[in-house]
Amino acid sequence: MTADAFFAAEPSVRSSWRLAILMGANSRTYKFALGDALLEHARHGHTEIPLSELAVPYAMSLVKHAATAPQAPEGTSIGTTDFLALAAAEREETRKLGRPTDLLLEAAVKSMPAMVMQKFHNLRGGREVPHRFYEMAGSPRQRIVRLTPELLQVAQSEQAAGLRAELGARWSIVESSFAAGIGRALIEEGVAVDWSTLQLTDKRRRRPVTGVADALIGFQYGRCLICDDVLDLADAVAVDHVFPYALMQRYASVGGWSGPDLDVLWNLAPAHEACNSAKSDRLPRPNELERLARRNEAIMGSPHPLRKTLSIALRQTNSGMRDASWPDFLLEVQKCCS
Ligand SMILES: [Zn+2]
Repeated sequence: MTADAFFAAEPSVRSSWRLAILMGANSRTYKFALGDALLEHARHGHTEIPLSELAVPYAMSLVKHAATAPQAPEGTSIGTTDFLALAAAEREETRKLGRPTDLLLEAAVKSMPAMVMQKFHNLRGGREVPHRFYEMAGSPRQRIVRLTPELLQVAQSEQAAGLRAELGARWSIVESSFAAGIGRALIEEGVAVDWSTLQLTDKRRRRPVTGVADALIGFQYGRCLICDDVLDLADAVAVDHVFPYALMQRYASVGGWSGPDLDVLWNLAPAHEACNSAKSDRLPRPNELERLARRNEAIMGSPHPLRKTLSIALRQTNSGMRDASWPDFLLEVQKCCS
């Protein structure tokens, strides 16, 4: 699914935000740090802030993340003038102070305009997301960031906490792919689900990556896959097997389940706990399958590392079908149920 199709299916300011966070290309993680800093200021109703103030949460979150995970692909050369190199050098002092050192803050203010502020709204192919979340003003010496009403709307909406969780999940997944090295773990082996914690686990490194619901919910427009209403991550959230897991057990007595593994990402979807328990082991309805196909297509259309995990599933179970689409794939799975 293209960025256009993702937006067209639910044209809203929130979808624009999700395009920027979920569908934009990333060779580093600066965009997530900026997104988080923007949400933080907008949550407090700020409309005009000096860049030097926006740079504080930006630098702090990068320092915090860089302490535990790489912020650029393995093998990327980080030169001595690189912001990440400086963040590493200033990490200890920043941690002690509880705020960025003067040197780090100065470097953030200097590098942010070209490195991330001008790119935040960009999509691949030289296009931009449909809404703008800030404008730059002021002089190069005294830059001002004007937060738009659209950003305030996003940051103060009832889904705001969920959007921050999505951003955090996307950040973790990108870091995890950087750590594993593109082309290895997340691509060849994919991620597994730890059902005791509902976390995605990097199979090769055997480490939790992020919550399953946080990782997937943005591609479902923050909605429950079963009832299609907004799913507040603060509510009781379940991860539904869209094709019930019980199918694999039920068929075991009659020669085995002939369909694909149902305990993997393509078949898992965040849902209200109440919707999930009411659904129990029934087969998915056509509108649920439609939403699942659209959700999986959205992930496949993003530069999200999880798309690799999905394309493995699509390929493995469709050896005879080249370029199978998600609706075709789900139809095939349905045939195995009859
Ligand atoms: Zn629901």
